Amino acid sequence: MVAYNPKSSKASEFINHEEILETIDYGRKNANNRDLIIDILNKAKKAKGLSHREAFVLLSCKEDDLNEEIFKLAKELKYKFYANRIVLFAPLYLSNYCVNGCSYCPYHGQNRTIPRRKLSQEEIREQVIALQDQGHKRLALEAGEDPVNNPLEYILESIHTIYNIKHKNGAIRRVNVNIAATTVENYRKLHEAEIGTYILFQETYNKENYENLHKFGPKSNYEYHTEAMDRAFEGGIDDLGLGVLYGLDSYEYEFIGQLMHAEHLEARFNVGPHTISVPRIQPADDIDPNDFDNSLSDEMFEKIVACIRVAAPYTGMIVSTRESEKVRSKLLDLGISQLSGGSKTSVGGYTENEEKGSDQFELSDNRTLDEVIDWLISKDHVPSFCTACYRMGRTGETFMGMVKKHGIGNICHPNALTTLEEYVMDYASEKTARDAEALIKRELMSIPNPDVRKSTEENLEKIRQGQRDLYI
Ligand code: SF4
Ligand code: SF4
Repeated sequence: MVAYNPKSSKASEFINHEEILETIDYGRKNANNRDLIIDILNKAKKAKGLSHREAFVLLSCKEDDLNEEIFKLAKELKYKFYANRIVLFAPLYLSNYCVNGCSYCPYHGQNRTIPRRKLSQEEIREQVIALQDQGHKRLALEAGEDPVNNPLEYILESIHTIYNIKHKNGAIRRVNVNIAATTVENYRKLHEAEIGTYILFQETYNKENYENLHKFGPKSNYEYHTEAMDRAFEGGIDDLGLGVLYGLDSYEYEFIGQLMHAEHLEARFNVGPHTISVPRIQPADDIDPNDFDNSLSDEMFEKIVACIRVAAPYTGMIVSTRESEKVRSKLLDLGISQLSGGSKTSVGGYTENEEKGSDQFELSDNRTLDEVIDWLISKDHVPSFCTACYRMGRTGETFMGMVKKHGIGNICHPNALTTLEEYVMDYASEKTARDAEALIKRELMSIPNPDVRKSTEENLEKIRQGQRDLYI
């Protein structure tokens, strides 16, 4: 039997199957153990995080009043660490050529019905200008794995193109990258290209299930995929984004695996994940979620988000337009700190009518970015396009150190207001502009430090006068 060891560099030791099964058993047995649950909640209130076992006891809790406390605490911790800002981003699909065999994704190599497409640098320019014209400043690049059609050189060239497109007042200031697991040397090149977060979804932590779902292609190697974040860190990338695709295996297994992965990064590198994403499987060409028998109710999905927030209070949490407005609305109050908005999930989707069947998955939230922004404002969240941290060198251990010590809301909040003002000046509809200005006025008053308030007021005024890209 392999022993659990969060410090190990071996996937089987830091994502340990036996430990996950024992944790599931422990959580189920203690679902009504009020004393234990209250002890864990008291520990969680100290905002230092929880172990995967403790977090799983909370997820398993069957006591209604204590479940209410978990939800309440998740909201408090989100505000404590990140204030009421919600960072916005959009995915940009570069290419859907892929040699892998992921059975839940329509881009898998054996799908002969989907139109294959790869953007040229000129087409990338058109997509990015369309995104800039929406108001976006932060992108997540997506590409299938295909050494012939999408080699790393293509990704690097695309990043360079994107950072250098200046159109009106638009600029993409942070490019996060979601591409296949690769070598330390390639991660080093991505780091040198100044990417923001490197995102790689594990899909499922259950090795046996993983191997069944990935029958061919380089991604079929569970160890190589699971150990990718370690190689990325060795290549110099210290903002790492984890995620599983809920619905592929039991949510219990995935929840524990995801927290074990976070614990591993913390134990080995002293830096937990920068973000955790929580996608759920959705329909697409060739894909029916009912083929996977681990579907997750909205209620349990909400509880997972709340328990991850409580277990890893300093980690950003992302939910995409896979989820409906109704679900996203609920999740906002349970710890989500980043949302995508105005998204398209097909190659070329921002400038063209999407060809039926070419999306990676169906969207449940099809609102425009402007509608998403006005909706966030109506819920008293501050929409943010801030990208200040990595440009100020606040990444990895430096970033985590700051967040763990005081939270980063005192920086996020003023930067959210100034980037929202940029949006108002350059892109907002009349109604959103009016609502945003009223929000900015109200929120300014809630900045506790008078010096920060004053400099934020000055920055807001400079933006109204035409300056851009001001941040602290
Ligand atoms: Fe390819 Fe990624 Fe889709 Fe798998 S999930 S088939 S690697 S694009
Ligand atoms: Fe993100 Fe840093 Fe900006 Fe806060 S200040 S929104 S953590 S980039």
